[in-house]
Amino acid sequence: MPAPSTHSNCANLRHPKWRDVPDSQWNDWRWQLRNRVTDLAGLAQLVELTPAERDGIDGRAGGFPFAITPYYLSLMQGPDCPVRRQAIPHRDELVRTPWDWDDPLAEEEHSPVPILSHRYPDRALLYVTHNCPVYCRHCTRQRKVGDARSAPSRDQLAAAYDYLRRTPQVRDVLVSGGDPLSLSDTRLEQILAELRSIDSVEVIRLCTRNPVTLPQRITPQLCERLRRYHPILVSTHFNHPREGTAEAGRALELLADAGFSCGNQMVLLQGINDNAEAVAELGRWLLRHRCRPYYMFQCDPVAGTAHLRTKVETGTNILDRLRGQLSGLALPKFVVDLPGGGGKVSLTPQRLLRREGDKLVFRDQRGREYNYVDRPKPVEL
Ligand code: SF4
Repeated sequence: MPAPSTHSNCANLRHPKWRDVPDSQWNDWRWQLRNRVTDLAGLAQLVELTPAERDGIDGRAGGFPFAITPYYLSLMQGPDCPVRRQAIPHRDELVRTPWDWDDPLAEEEHSPVPILSHRYPDRALLYVTHNCPVYCRHCTRQRKVGDARSAPSRDQLAAAYDYLRRTPQVRDVLVSGGDPLSLSDTRLEQILAELRSIDSVEVIRLCTRNPVTLPQRITPQLCERLRRYHPILVSTHFNHPREGTAEAGRALELLADAGFSCGNQMVLLQGINDNAEAVAELGRWLLRHRCRPYYMFQCDPVAGTAHLRTKVETGTNILDRLRGQLSGLALPKFVVDLPGGGGKVSLTPQRLLRREGDKLVFRDQRGREYNYVDRPKPVEL
């Protein structure tokens, strides 16, 4: 496999525009948010945009916005850069197919109160904000993420807590959005305290991409305040080894040191991370920073993301190639979340070829066949 391309040794990569910004500001998440790049004119001064990117930005006007933190923008390279392709709109986003959905997971349909989805018996998803530091071009919730008018009100939050109190079969609450870490420490703590006061809620999951796009947000103070509400699991969303910087590693380690159990959910994206090398390298980096590679999702069929979706076989082929070469701990499960609310289906490479009487015939990743007899008939010895 090629040499690692993570940036864990390149602390403080910065675009020249921000080279002279004092560290105290650069490392302040509020400064990063205040200085996000959110319009074509600002972005064009920093990145040599391709015509397709310019069309993408123009064409999306009024739709799913874009925003990029100085930190995340500083990781970008040429037009094919995996970071750039996740964050800068492209004209292919304007293409529609008959198989696109606005809400592929049917979250709105399974919404008993406005800011909560209840799709599985024991889990519920709570939307606590619709803002994110960076708007990912593959976002499943682009129907509402980035729309500040749809931020939940206090009354909506109260209705969601009330629903959870009335629905004790929900044991696991996913605090999501948008990105919940877009809220202030105090606001976030209030939400977690409310959830923890509900006896039937056993586990809280914090779903955040801040460790990837704004790792400065993970501060010792934040960890100290949130750890009071354990058990809290953090689901993060690294997609490519280029996102594995020293800052991101430090954010994951702060979380792990504070007792958060961290798991990563990557999305397989065409031309971005759809190869075994990227998946393996990211998996190893995550494990080194005490974050378990958990899921590798097939990209949901959201309108405007057809150009980012891979064939499903790409995912199983990656697993086929890596199984046996890479520690199982570093290998995520490959999952398709069935459109229309069908739920997750886990896919694995086809290794069981056939049954021949008592004998099962398997193949390994190199195609060699092996026999396994599961219920042998006793023989007289
Ligand atoms: S951080 Fe999550 S919710 Fe926000 S834009 Fe990215 S994928 Fe969507």
